[in-house]
Amino acid sequence: MTSIIDRAERFGENLYIDTRGNCEKPVAFTEAVINGLAQGGGLYVPQEVPSMSVEEIVALAKLPYAQRAAAVYKAFNIDLADEKIDELMARSYGSNFDDAAICPITTLADGTHVLELWHGPTSAFKDMALQCLPQFFSASAAELRERGKLDHEFLIMVATSGDTGKAALEGFKDADGVRIGVLFPDGGVSDIQRKQMVTTTGANVQVWGVRGNFDDCQTGVKRVFSDVDFAEKLMAEHKVSLSSANSINWGRLLPQIVYYMSAYAELVEAGKVEAGQSIDVCVPTGNFGNILAAWYAKKIGTPIDKLLCASNENRVLTDFINTGSYDISDRPFTLTPSPSMDILVSSNLERQLFELTGRNANAIAGWMRDLNEKRAFRVDPETFAKVREHFVADSVDNAECLAVIKRVLDEQGYLLDPHTAVAYEVAQRLRGENPVVVASTAHWAKFGDNVYRALHDMAPGEALPADVAALTGCQLNELIARETGRDDIPAGLANLDVMEVRFADVIDNGVEDIEAAAEAFLTR
Ligand SMILES: *Cc1c(COP(=O)(O)O)cnc(C)c1O
Repeated sequence: MTSIIDRAERFGENLYIDTRGNCEKPVAFTEAVINGLAQGGGLYVPQEVPSMSVEEIVALAKLPYAQRAAAVYKAFNIDLADEKIDELMARSYGSNFDDAAICPITTLADGTHVLELWHGPTSAFKDMALQCLPQFFSASAAELRERGKLDHEFLIMVATSGDTGKAALEGFKDADGVRIGVLFPDGGVSDIQRKQMVTTTGANVQVWGVRGNFDDCQTGVKRVFSDVDFAEKLMAEHKVSLSSANSINWGRLLPQIVYYMSAYAELVEAGKVEAGQSIDVCVPTGNFGNILAAWYAKKIGTPIDKLLCASNENRVLTDFINTGSYDISDRPFTLTPSPSMDILVSSNLERQLFELTGRNANAIAGWMRDLNEKRAFRVDPETFAKVREHFVADSVDNAECLAVIKRVLDEQGYLLDPHTAVAYEVAQRLRGENPVVVASTAHWAKFGDNVYRALHDMAPGEALPADVAALTGCQLNELIARETGRDDIPAGLANLDVMEVRFADVIDNGVEDIEAAAEAFLTR
């Protein structure tokens, strides 16, 4: 077995510590990726966040996107060889995206810079990380295998309410040493989302519908993860351990830092921002991964001033940033037109607070205990001042969200998805003198029903007219495209009606049912 120190000598020495101070010793990047969650429930962060000068950041614009990503990962000193990183990034960010720029910026007539993060295979921003994480995952597993630290393969299990499942399937399909099974609530995802998942190609994938709602589905999967006997059985009989691909994995966060640095470089290159001039960034926020990545981009040296945190009606983060109190003890969970931001517990906030307290693991462990036991915590005044130094926040209600989609199409000729609409509106409300970059997290055609409601002045949740309700998701998108005179439906969403359905199984949500299905998949 090779020690961490040997690897550090070979590659660099940026090891990973955890936010609650429970890990006995720091681990290498490869191990942080494979482990996902740190021992004791904390999250991994790198011991050192690199610094880059404005000149170095601006120079990224001269490189293709894949090389920009590689340059940032090398600055983080991850324990994979430089040539390996180059190779992995060429695979992550290439023709799998429908725009050579990977995440191009569209500047609207009103000056807002829209950073389009949805040009990947599933048309949502999760591709930016999930085209990359599986490359890291397979390479990390290979690296650890070579060092005698690993002798088994992985079964990734994901419960999804829509976007994440498909992005994970696309990322992990045909990855080495990994199989991936995705469970979605039967009848609980949109027609487009279901078809995206059940038509996924690749030899190592499996998709199940689960009877019940998303909560039932997620609870079932969580129980499987905590079933020690099942874990032992999988290892003994299949040489496989369970793993997840969720957004607390550092290997998912790191790729998101790149596009904020890249966007700054491009704006300077295009003459829209002067080198060194500060910009603000507005992010439609759920689990806090995307906006945290923007904070890391700032920490590295990107001239970002304010981070604008945009919430929908589930405004726990906006309330936190405005009061210092995170309180879900008496907070209802609301359904909105932007479901990927519908959250109560925002996991990556833990990393942000760790950083803003000067890496005080005791404070974090205490707050996370409070959250668990009292469903609330309040940060100290000093930490709250730090939060206010970087963040401002506001929320947009469901009716406003739909109105914004209509108004921006009428006034700027640009069609927003509901998540981006929330961020666009918050940016207009909170912006000052700085140029603003709005993170656009999904293509409108992923959320055609609410886009239709917006364009037809319907209320949120109002039933679609019978003839419209009878359309498939693809047909509805074609109708919207015709009505608005556009032809920008992404290829991956256009032909779902005619693609072969590979997975039609619907299973019960009991732990035995899910475990039996997982084993059947492993022996398939
Ligand atoms: C996941 C997601 C978000 C929220 O991102 P976080 O990193 O969880 O804050 C916003 N919009 C869309 C479309 C998403 O899929």
